[in-house]
Amino acid sequence: MSRKNRILVTGAGGFIGHHLVRRLRAEGHWVRGVDLKTPEYAATDADEFQVLDLRQFENCRLAVSGGIDQVYNLAADMGGIGFITANHADIARNNILINAHMLEAGRLERVDRFLFSSSACVYAQSRQRDERVTPLREEDAFPADPEPGYGWEKLYAEQLCKYYRQDYGFETRVVRFHNVYGPLGTYEGGREKAPAAVCRKVALAENHTTIEIWGDGEQTRSFMHVDDCVEGLVRLMASQYCEPLNLGTDRLISINGLVDLACGIAGKQLAKKHDLSKPQGVRGRNSDNRRLREVLGWEPSISLEEGLTMTYLWIEGELAKAGRIPKQVAARV
Ligand code: NAD
Repeated sequence: MSRKNRILVTGAGGFIGHHLVRRLRAEGHWVRGVDLKTPEYAATDADEFQVLDLRQFENCRLAVSGGIDQVYNLAADMGGIGFITANHADIARNNILINAHMLEAGRLERVDRFLFSSSACVYAQSRQRDERVTPLREEDAFPADPEPGYGWEKLYAEQLCKYYRQDYGFETRVVRFHNVYGPLGTYEGGREKAPAAVCRKVALAENHTTIEIWGDGEQTRSFMHVDDCVEGLVRLMASQYCEPLNLGTDRLISINGLVDLACGIAGKQLAKKHDLSKPQGVRGRNSDNRRLREVLGWEPSISLEEGLTMTYLWIEGELAKAGRIPKQVAARV
């Protein structure tokens, strides 16, 4: 039987953190969750949950106290493209405080391993100007030209992980997520990402009406279901690999294509009204998974059709529970 650990997940009140806690508990580990808030849509599975603001160093010390073996540091001030382009200063300041303090607290408390959740937003914008983008390899983060605010902070925190490894022998792991989606994620309020926003818009729209899409919809991305994300996280933590590693799918799809998929799942025919005044982020972004396959001997496998169906049905169910769409619509499938 594999060894059971005492594990801290920060950001455990958020989307990926909540799913990760569930997975680690199912494997029999003891898990402490920490966040500014408890999970919004389902009770946490953590053995212990602390509401703490991790921008404060003393709170980071508390979070890693009591013999924690591993830290998954997922806490971050983040959201969809609208949110991250409108809040550069807050995001960069809040996140660097969390990440610098968590690294130092983890080192002082002698945790065995520390995983930092970075993002594909670290990649140079100059390599992402075409919707038929060449998939991004890990070395394409340099020369540095990341997403303003959020991406610069992630890139710097990646470097900090490297310095802690080099100077203190502190075992760090760095993952670069590419667009994670799935049930139990924020789907409105401004912090939601594209798949959740698209599912919400489609679920709320009456058949044969029009929904608004940000940009011309030809911008492209790859999307990974949260169950694959959690599997990759656990595998990376267990591996000996300490350089930044992509974690995503390499299936490129346009936002218009994503909308068409969601409409197909919903059984609706909707027209798209493109709002060119809204931010759309880089023109194209895809993950090169060669190193992921090499290092983990694995890559995400949940298809977008399957994953988006789960996500759409969950969001539709939430909207029905809130009385915002008729219940019989949500019961359709
Ligand atoms: P999320 O917003 O659902 O979760 C992040 C959590 O961090 C939130 O619950 C938030 O309350 C918490 N948090 C923020 N500030 C905090 C503070 N000061 N103290 C304690 N907790 C705080 O986001 P997510 O999608 O679950 O993302 C998890 C991690 O993965 C983040 O680091 C994010 O930057 C990274 N990431 C996510 C994606 C994605 O597609 N979801 C893509 C790239 C990177």
